[in-house]
Amino acid sequence: PIAFVRGQFVPRDTATIPLMDRGFLFGDGVYEVTAVIERRFVDNGPHLDRLDRSLREIGIANPYDRAEWIGIECELMRRNALDNGLIYIQVTRGVAERDFLFPPDLAPSVVLFAQNRRVQHNPLIEKGAAVITLPDQRWARCDIKSTSLLAQVLAKRAAAQANANEVWMTRDGHITEGASSTAFIVTPDGRLVTRTLSPAILPGVTRRTIMRIADQAGLALAERPFTRDEALGAAEAFYTSASTIAIPVTRIDGRPVANGRPGPVFRSLYDQYMQHVLENPQD
Ligand code: PLP
Repeated sequence: PIAFVRGQFVPRDTATIPLMDRGFLFGDGVYEVTAVIERRFVDNGPHLDRLDRSLREIGIANPYDRAEWIGIECELMRRNALDNGLIYIQVTRGVAERDFLFPPDLAPSVVLFAQNRRVQHNPLIEKGAAVITLPDQRWARCDIKSTSLLAQVLAKRAAAQANANEVWMTRDGHITEGASSTAFIVTPDGRLVTRTLSPAILPGVTRRTIMRIADQAGLALAERPFTRDEALGAAEAFYTSASTIAIPVTRIDGRPVANGRPGPVFRSLYDQYMQHVLENPQD
């Protein structure tokens, strides 16, 4: 595999980052993950928009313009012969003497690599995922896609130990989001519900496209918080992310959601998403 590391394409598995990179020492950076399905980017424009916003929120100047970002991504795809998979982008504040206070005008470190994977062939799409709920232990700016992911790392370990696939995190009695996904339910009267955007959650790119597809399909939408109990009484539940598109949730804390099988609203939204990807090659 070939990666892009601080300006150059290099073999991924021997690539190095300076010890004094602030991404390594402080988690002082942001990232994005974009899917590629059958050689087409999935929602790449909105992912690059969110990268720009994350950088702005933490005061790192975006080192590339839109055309440059897409050029690097396309070259990465070409060098890795990536037809299906994920493109990972990370931008850190750069290399400096270790000090919490950063010097002005550091050159950001940019890293990209690709992972071969058939997002669209995830067995959980048919099988359904098991989710556990845990307290949300993250900081107060979850709208920034920060590389500081310790809370999510520990949440995912807890999920694995419980033989579950994802964690839905709770704060003040309501579900915020998944450890690496946006949480959705379908109410018994057929309304698609997901939490309102705020600093408590990442503004999911896949969330946005799912909402648009649902709206165009005439589904009633509601952006509001929901509880674990409401999710357990829902007609359907699912989560979305760039690396999965959408996965039906069939168990929460060991209890089945509805009949314990993936539901028709999920299936229809998922199929329409795939159609959207294959018909809209670029954003
Ligand atoms: N929420 C969190 C905490 C995430 O880490 C992610 C993706 O990794 C998402 C939501 C989903 O966002 P997107 O659909 O843009 O991948």
